[in-house]
Amino acid sequence: MAIWNLGSINADMVYTMPHLPTAGETLAATELDQFLGGKGANMSVAAARAGSLAHHIGAVGPDGKWAVDRLTEYGVDTRHIAQIDVPTGHAIIAVDQQGENQIILYSGANQKIDQNSLKQALTQANAGDILVMQNETNLQVDAARMARGLGLKVCYAAAPFDEVAVQAVLPYLDFLILNQVEAAQLERSTGKTPDALGVSDVIMTLGARGARHIDGNTGVIHDIPALPVTAVDTTGAGDTFTGYILSGLDRGLPMVNAMAQANRAAALMVTRHGTADVIPDLKDVLDARF
Ligand code: ADP
Repeated sequence: MAIWNLGSINADMVYTMPHLPTAGETLAATELDQFLGGKGANMSVAAARAGSLAHHIGAVGPDGKWAVDRLTEYGVDTRHIAQIDVPTGHAIIAVDQQGENQIILYSGANQKIDQNSLKQALTQANAGDILVMQNETNLQVDAARMARGLGLKVCYAAAPFDEVAVQAVLPYLDFLILNQVEAAQLERSTGKTPDALGVSDVIMTLGARGARHIDGNTGVIHDIPALPVTAVDTTGAGDTFTGYILSGLDRGLPMVNAMAQANRAAALMVTRHGTADVIPDLKDVLDARF
């Protein structure tokens, strides 16, 4: 089995600043670090590190070769990432001495994925494989519809939250993954509780309170508490959770076991600074003592 991820790829450019620049101010950064980011890339890396065959479907610009190389190095299949004539998605992140930040996000190539490349990729998938998407690319509804037709299971992580985007994709979903803020927004916009959305499995991540599985067929709720760790950086925790839970299901684990593994991986992730580059592998996740 395999995981197909229609997902974003970003360059996270982190500028260390004496303070955050104000309107009209020109201010020199003292340092620049470049990291691989984007919810899509994070999820592909998490699924690959967890032991699944992770195929990333996406696009980068002429400046994106390093990001593709890094994904390949991390074990992701990058053959379905197109190189197009639009700049690679990126985040310009200014961080001051107190750790406060300011972020400019440019979606670039992530919103210009070509329908033919999507089709070409998905026709190589097998029934029973999983398609995962987030809200940082174009073509989500097309992908969901196509994947359903091919017998794939479809998962959507509703982040960043957009009520039109999530409602458009909802009829095609087997799995829906939300954090607590997104869950509250979805409930407000649909007027429905998560168990009444018509999605078989809804997974809510609850930050330091752990995670919840809601069986959309029976309404049964299963909660798992978060593991006791000292969180130093929660960036990418949700993406790690998603990549791991899907990989667990892809590797044949029952939902509760896949969730427990995802909870361990995400707990380990919040103890580390960084995103895609530091997502733990399955051995670290299984060996970790909490
Ligand atoms: P997101 O980053 O998408 O907002 P959450 O904040 O809900 O997602 O975190 C995702 C998962 O990361 C949680 O379900 C939990 O497993 C783990 N996690 C997050 N914060 C902590 C924490 N302080 N301690 C332990 N685990 C955590």
